[in-house]
Amino acid sequence: MAKEERKGVRALTRDNLVGMKVIDGDGFLMGEVKDVAFTVGRLDLVLIVKTKEGDKEVPWGDVQAVGDFVVLKPKAAPAAAPTPTCPPCGSPFVYVEQYKRWYCPNCKKYV
Ligand SMILES: [Zn+2]
Repeated sequence: MAKEERKGVRALTRDNLVGMKVIDGDGFLMGEVKDVAFTVGRLDLVLIVKTKEGDKEVPWGDVQAVGDFVVLKPKAAPAAAPTPTCPPCGSPFVYVEQYKRWYCPNCKKYV
């Protein structure tokens, strides 16, 4: 079976990947590959990435390219501030543009 030889295409082993720097889709250094794991139930590789905030799992599907660095695909949505949740009930707040305030639909209260 003839394989198309392309520059930069090579088999990657766990040893190749572990220790590689991971660059996120915004071009920032996310961390370093700590380990490679399989997701049980899905034939999918997961990179365990050591970041400042602790270990994160990055599905192989999120990887755009592997060269000197592991480069992740840009996120579909920009990593905006996460929606705050209501402390008593845990429901996500809804932002009400009209009043420029967060509203909890569960408690029916503005924050
Ligand atoms: Zn609430």
